Amino acid sequence: MIRIGIDLGGTKTEIIALDEAGSELLRHRVASPRHDYQATLSMIVRLVEETEGQLGRRAAVGIGTPGAISPGTGLLRNSNSTWLNGRPLLHDLIECLQRDVRIENDANCFTLSEAVDGAGAGHRVVFGVILGTGVGGGIVVDGRVISGPNRIAGEWGHNPLPWADDSERPGPACYCGKSGCIETFLSGPGFTRDHAAATGTMLEGAEIIDAARQGELCSAASVERYEQRLARALAHVINVLDPDAIVLGGGMSNVPRWYETVPHLWQEWIFSDRVDTLLLHNRHGDSSGVRGAAWLGSGPRP
Ligand SMILES: [Zn+2]
Repeated sequence: MIRIGIDLGGTKTEIIALDEAGSELLRHRVASPRHDYQATLSMIVRLVEETEGQLGRRAAVGIGTPGAISPGTGLLRNSNSTWLNGRPLLHDLIECLQRDVRIENDANCFTLSEAVDGAGAGHRVVFGVILGTGVGGGIVVDGRVISGPNRIAGEWGHNPLPWADDSERPGPACYCGKSGCIETFLSGPGFTRDHAAATGTMLEGAEIIDAARQGELCSAASVERYEQRLARALAHVINVLDPDAIVLGGGMSNVPRWYETVPHLWQEWIFSDRVDTLLLHNRHGDSSGVRGAAWLGSGPRP
């Protein structure tokens, strides 16, 4: 079976076709129509038809996009492509494409991609984390996304930072309406804000990490605060889910030292004398979203 995955973003949309073994048959990227729901639908249909024309075969279709289909209404919600919110995207795509279509959010697609044939391959329970502009999570068990009755499984970025000390309470205000969410500490902008609060200097995450590597003490302290918070946030997940592997993605995942320091640090908060959970860097990088969307399509996986 050929699988088509579409990563529907606010500014660009990517399509990929995978064969049975997960090899890439083709990949194509276009600009997303903005503020136009009908044009978005037409673009997806055109991309699928063109791809199937080139392959000469009908394919299973999966879509990855920010947001989720509300289980109550069947309408998309929580997408930062706001013109898709409140629209019956899944229903309309099933009508237009005349087949079953699966939709999951970008963190779930990332986790599925890494669990099927990425860094988490061969592990039964995989927790995927995106540490980017926001912080998202996804759970895959035996190669299947666990989404849950509320479609929020894995969304731990808006839980409070666990074992917070007085300097971390109440914590920064979050767009969700609460304060001190994990996302406000572990997102790229959260890291920048934390460093600026300590030093008065606004730097991008990569700049802080570079400075720390060169021995600049304030930057090194910011990096140590970050990895300590990441360890606490992941210890919380391990105490609930006890995954075999945790795979990190997003811009803040590209720091080799996290994979040594964090599993050492998290032992203090995990309710077990021994911790075998692996902390892994993603294998597919920016391609994980679109590859995971393709794996949503039904049928056997490698
Ligand atoms: Zn929040």
